[in-house]
Order: sequence, then C-alpha cells, then structure tokens
Amino acid sequence: MATRKKSSAATPGKRSSGSPGAGARGRKPGPDEADLAVLNEIARVASLDLELQPTLQRITDALARHFDWDTVACVLVEQERNRFVCMALTSRLAMVPAIGVHHPLGTGIIGEVAKRGRAVLLRDVRRSKRYVAWSAEVRSELCVPVRHHGRVVAALNIESRRLGAFDGQKVLLETIAEQISGAIANARLFEQVRARAAQLEMIGEISRLALDAGELSELLERVVGFVQRNFRLTATAILLLDERGERFEIAARAGNAPQNERIGASFPLVGVVGRAMRTGTSLLVSDVRSDPEYVMLHPEVVAELVVPFRFREKVLGALNLESDDSEVFSEETVAFLQALASQIAGGIHMARVNRRLAETNRLVEERTREVEQVNQELHLSNQVLQQLSTHDGLTGVANRRQFDEILLVEWRRAARVEGPIALVMVDIDQFKAFNDTYGHQAGDDALKEVAYALQDSVQRAGEVTSRYGGDEFAIILPGMHIDEAARLAEDLRQAVEGRKIRHASSSVSRYVTLSLGVASLQAARAGSAAELVAAADRALYSAKFAGRNRVEVEKDRGPDRRLSVIGGGKVE
Ligand code: GH3
Ligand code: MG
Repeated sequence: MATRKKSSAATPGKRSSGSPGAGARGRKPGPDEADLAVLNEIARVASLDLELQPTLQRITDALARHFDWDTVACVLVEQERNRFVCMALTSRLAMVPAIGVHHPLGTGIIGEVAKRGRAVLLRDVRRSKRYVAWSAEVRSELCVPVRHHGRVVAALNIESRRLGAFDGQKVLLETIAEQISGAIANARLFEQVRARAAQLEMIGEISRLALDAGELSELLERVVGFVQRNFRLTATAILLLDERGERFEIAARAGNAPQNERIGASFPLVGVVGRAMRTGTSLLVSDVRSDPEYVMLHPEVVAELVVPFRFREKVLGALNLESDDSEVFSEETVAFLQALASQIAGGIHMARVNRRLAETNRLVEERTREVEQVNQELHLSNQVLQQLSTHDGLTGVANRRQFDEILLVEWRRAARVEGPIALVMVDIDQFKAFNDTYGHQAGDDALKEVAYALQDSVQRAGEVTSRYGGDEFAIILPGMHIDEAARLAEDLRQAVEGRKIRHASSSVSRYVTLSLGVASLQAARAGSAAELVAAADRALYSAKFAGRNRVEVEKDRGPDRRLSVIGGGKVE
C-alpha cells in the first residue's frame, strides 16, 4: 500500500487542528459538533462490508482530510504473536515504507501504546528516547490504544511537523479510537463470514460431488486446490491409506512438490504423516526442524499439519498441509480442516460404494445378457425339438403322434359346440410297386411331393394334414360336413393326379394316384374319435376295393350308415 502524501498547506475551509489557533490552546477536550461528522463517517465506513485493510485505510484518509493532520496511521495488534503491523497510513510527509511491516510489541511509541494500552502524547518527539522516526520531519505525536472488549486490538497514531500540535486532543482521539474499534470488529466479522461462506461452499461441494458419484480423483483434486488457494501453504496433499494400513499413496496434491511426490507415489507410514495415520488424530508440528520424524521435502517449510480422516473408525487417509508460516494453522483453521477431512472421508466412502455398485451392476447386466442368450438358444432348440417330436421327418407334415393329439382336441371341441368333424384318410395306390420300380429314394421323393400337394390344398385354420403311416396320410377337417369334405377329398385326388408323377407299374394310372376315404361325424352324438378314424378307414378300404384312384364317403347317418361313392378311378 503506497503512502499517501498531501499538500503541506492547510486547505481552506477544513479544520486545521494542527494550526496554532485551533490547536492545543483553542480546543476543548472531547469532540465538538464538527467532529461528530467524522465520527459519523467512520461509522458509515464500518458498515460498508469491506475487508479490514480497506476499511482502516478509508478511516485514516477521512481523519487526515477532516482534521488536516500530517500523518494518520492505524496499526493492528497481534497479541498472540507479540507484534503489531501497520494496516493503514495517510500522510503528507516523506515516510519510510510502513504498511504491512511488523514490529515487536514495545517498539517505539506505537509499540509502547500497543503493549501497555495507555495513550502517549509527545509535544516534542526529539525529547523522547522511545520515539522511532518514520519521518524526519515529525515533531509531535499522539498515539491512543484501540480496545475491543477491554483488549488492545489496535493503535491510532497521529503525527505533526509542528511542536505540541496535539495538546488537548487525547479525548477526541480516544473517542475516534472507540469508533475504530467498532469498525475493526465489523470488518473482522465480515472477513470471517466470507471465509465461512467459502468453507461451507466447499464442504457442500464435496457432498454434492460425492453424491453425484463423480470421479474420486476429481473430487480430491478440487479439495486440495481449494485448500491451497484459501490458506497460505507451501503444499497440500491428500494421502490415502492402503487396505492393510501399511502404506499411503498421494491421491491429490497442489502447490510445490518435489519429483518423488507425484500422484500415485506410495510411501511407508513414516514421518509426521505416518504418526498421524497410526494414531488417527490430527498432528500439528509448528517447527518441523525440531521434529526428528519430519521428512524434509521442502526446505522452506516451517510447519506441518496432518489431519487424518476416517469412516466408521477406519482411517482412510489424511490431509497433509505444509506452510512456511506456523501461524497459518490457527485453531479455527484446524477445526475447519477437520470438518473438511470428515467430509472427504464421506466422499471417499461414497465414491467407493458407487464404484462397487457400478461393478455389481455391470456383472448383473453381463449375467442377464448371458442368461438371455442361453434362454434364446433353449427356446430355439425347444422349437426344433417340438418340430422333431410333432412332425414327420421325411415330409414335414404332422406325424402320427401329433395327429392323435389334435384329433382328440378337435373331437372334444366339436362335441362341445355340437358341430361336425370330418376326416379324410388317404393312401397312395400301389406304392409298393412304385418303390419296386423306381427304388426307395424315388419313393421318398414321391411321398414328399404327395405331402406337399395335400398340404397345398388344405389351408383353412385348424385343418391338419398328417402322415398316418407308410404311404397313408390323414386330414382332420374340424367343423366340416361330409359333402364339403368329399369335395375337398376329390380336389386332393385331382391335385396329386395332376402332378403327373410317373408310376409305370400302376394298374390304375400312368401316374401316382390316391384312394381316399371320407367320414364326418357329429362328435356330440358319436362315441369317440376312434370311431371317426374307423369310419374314414372303412371308406378308404371301400375306395381301394372299388378300384382305387377315387374318393369313398361314409356318411354319418346315425345307426343306418350307408356308403356312397363319388369320383372315379378311370384307368388311362
Ligand atoms: P395299395 O394300392 O393296396 O395301397 O398297394 P400298396 O402297395 O400301396 O400297399 P402296401 O400297404 O402293400 O404297400 C405300401 C408300401 O409303401 C410298402 C412300402 O414299400 C411303402 N412305404 C411305406 N413307407 C415308406 C417310406 O417311408 N418310403 C418309401 N420309399 N416307401 C415306403
Ligand atoms: Mg398304398
């Protein structure tokens, strides 16, 4: 902060309390009405929510302006460190640099006031042995303590080039000091509130990050960055303890770090860190040189603070901070860092839980996919099995077992709805001879072609073509009356004949022909499905008997059953 210089001449219109007329002899003790204005201004500055230094600077500026004093300075007393530091200075004199400079308590007049807490007035500084000159021009000085709750927190010092410039002004300056005390308290409060807000924000951010299942390394990076930014530190690191509690590893770091302190570097539990991790309690070493366990990594480091963090009694790691100033680790800072550390522990725990959860989810998903795959394969092989067990291997139509099942189901349904059910029994004419003539393979091919031709003509839902056995097929026709079934049978006969499959050894045709027996029963009235099969069989037998290549019908006419023949086996 630069020293402010002002013109040495008193500005007209301003109170010149340093002038002989208005000075020592002219002033009543204590503030008069005009002084109230400056007290008011100090109060206003105090309420501006500024940090301490700018607050005090505004106050010394206002005082110098209002009273036309040559020099106004405000120093802060750091009792615990036994020193004071100049925080604000407004002067029109040539001064040694003062702002920010520390002096031990007891040094000079200001040091004396700061230490003893009593005002000192020097009419002629040259007659005081204690006086330490900040400016060679100064002749008189008045310094008063600033107290807060009885404790000396600061000192207000005014100086003049004239002898005895401040005679009789002690009470006034003490009144101003009281006002400054309020301003200091206010500014400190403001600084504290701001620091707390930043700390709370950091803690909130850690919770959020932890809950977000964010990357652990990213979370830790941000924490060390925050700590390094907010406290005067040489280095900050987060160290994580391994599962067995034997070694720790650098998980995140900020600030200066030698080569061997890279992320991921692992160390045995040595040094101050090792001691803190073993005991699980925070450890502050104010002077590392006096600690035999300290491992010197940064030559400028004076103090080290290790704050271990644990989750459910288990030490997970520690915050490690090193500074060139032991004062950085105030009680308040340590308390905050401990709160931060427990938050970090929560974050690490959550991140680990999340990681395990993600791994479990991945495994479950993988297993689910495998099970789905197996299920699909099973489904396919079931389908194949089903096909194999219900269909004829050669022709692909339903097999005999499937025929029996379907016939039973359809028979029952027909009985329920009191409707008809028809059956066509089909047999290839003189097929043995076909085989004998063309060979078994050609016989197979002919069987297949006959099956295709039959299936082609039987298309309504519920109608089933099946291989009944050998060269015999059976067609179930639910809901069909005999006439319709007979017509269909005739269609089938013609369809196969129309394929013109050569059959030289047939006595009925040059081509493969069929004999078909048709029956239709009212299931509700008749006895059983076997009866329908028997009736269709009889009709088939009749067709064979009547000369083959024809359709015979057995009508359901109750007890008086009579056979009728349609279609005809013309020999070409
Ligand atoms: P019909 O006109 O009286 O029915 O005379 P057919 O020779 O057809 O009657 P038969 O019942 O004596 O002979 C049926 C023949 O069907 C016997 C067998 O060689 C043949 N056959 C049965 N199953 C198969 C098969 O899967 N493949 C082949 N190629 N021939 C079969
Ligand atoms: Mg036959």
